[in-house]
Amino acid sequence: MLVAVVGAGIMGASLSLHLAGNEMTVLLFDSAAPGSGATGSSFACLNFFAGTTPNYMQFMSEALDYHEELARQIGLADTIRATGTLRWSTESTQTKELLQAASMAEGLGRRVEYLSRNDALDLEPNLRIGGAPEVIVRAPQEGWLDSVRFTKRMIDAAVATGLAHHICEKCTRIEPIEHGGAELWTNRTSYLVDAVVLAGGIGVNALLEDLACAPLFHESPAVLTQMQYLGPRIEHVVFANQIHFRTNGPSSLIVGNADDPMGVRDSGVMAGKENVSLVRRELKEPSLGESIVAQRGTRPVPKDGYPIVGRLPGQEQIFIAVTHAGVTLAPYVALLLTTEIARDGSCKVLGAFRPERFNLPIDQNKIPRI
Ligand SMILES: Cc1cc2nc3c(=O)[nH]c(=O)nc-3n(C[C@H](O)[C@H](O)[C@H](O)COP(=O)(O)OP(=O)(O)OC[C@H]3O[C@@H](n4cnc5c(N)ncnc54)[C@H](O)[C@@H]3O)c2cc1C
Repeated sequence: MLVAVVGAGIMGASLSLHLAGNEMTVLLFDSAAPGSGATGSSFACLNFFAGTTPNYMQFMSEALDYHEELARQIGLADTIRATGTLRWSTESTQTKELLQAASMAEGLGRRVEYLSRNDALDLEPNLRIGGAPEVIVRAPQEGWLDSVRFTKRMIDAAVATGLAHHICEKCTRIEPIEHGGAELWTNRTSYLVDAVVLAGGIGVNALLEDLACAPLFHESPAVLTQMQYLGPRIEHVVFANQIHFRTNGPSSLIVGNADDPMGVRDSGVMAGKENVSLVRRELKEPSLGESIVAQRGTRPVPKDGYPIVGRLPGQEQIFIAVTHAGVTLAPYVALLLTTEIARDGSCKVLGAFRPERFNLPIDQNKIPRI
């Protein structure tokens, strides 16, 4: 079976590896460098706390476990920094939500620790933890991923099987073929394939338009600030009130601000400066250097916040795999979707994430052009 994968972010890379591992021939298309989309501008926290319902949190937890398994298989265990996360808020509603999420995680068998300020300071002596938060929640199994290295390595491992081919071309449209398969057009030529998986992050909406599907997700920009940090090492990923930060290599911090989830206030410079002053307040010894780089990233956020995975309604051989929290979810989504494609079956775990839940207004008059 010849499968085209559109997009070489963490999702397309994960799919290429799993499809090739299942003896399928893979053409992976992207005219940009692997991991240069949302994957390369991500905070890249591997977490299950973003799972807002027990089922979704369970799915995220399984994805987290699978990451470790896969990383070992491809010799990249060191890209996963299972350093743990620390979360707190000094605001009562947010504290309540945090404790609800923590209790949900415990109910799913995940390890969660409830720390006093002093306990947390023993673990992270350079944090200030001001404002007397009621409790600090530690999730030791969470952490972060070197997402670009992981993505590139998965592509290399897929290509090394001899079954996957990385093609530096942009997919411009996909035309389903009446008796099976599809013709995939690029900026250079066209390819006849048995199946296509749309894994191009925010680029997928444009391709859906041509397939007569309504857009399935929003584009959600956000600014992360990378800054030089020469103080005592911070081990955990920290979520303190509205800001989150972690180390990013030996002498830098990466910082985001949930109060500007749209990242729309400015070109990134103001948000960058604000992040510097916010993180300064959270550290006893800020020791921040001169170098500050604000980077804007845009993530695909499905309309209801949950992943969109599976066959496009009305399109026998065209699949979609787009999600928010994709750094955490992509390898697991790829594992499950590959099983579906390989066995032409349906994987129960993905049941809640099907694209048809949005009642796609498929234009019945739009028939395949071949
Ligand atoms: C600021 C920020 C913070 C985040 N924080 C987290 C976090 O803490 N934890 C977490 O799990 N997730 C986080 N995310 C989300 C996560 O980064 C994304 O969900 C994930 O990277 C999406 O991966 P992807 O491969 O689907 O898309 P992308 O990485 O965007 O890759 C898509 C690729 O497809 C290519 N492409 C697009 N259209 C075409 C086309 N027509 N033809 C060929 N190629 C095409 C693009 O060039 C790109 O390389 C964050 C994202 C951002 C921006």
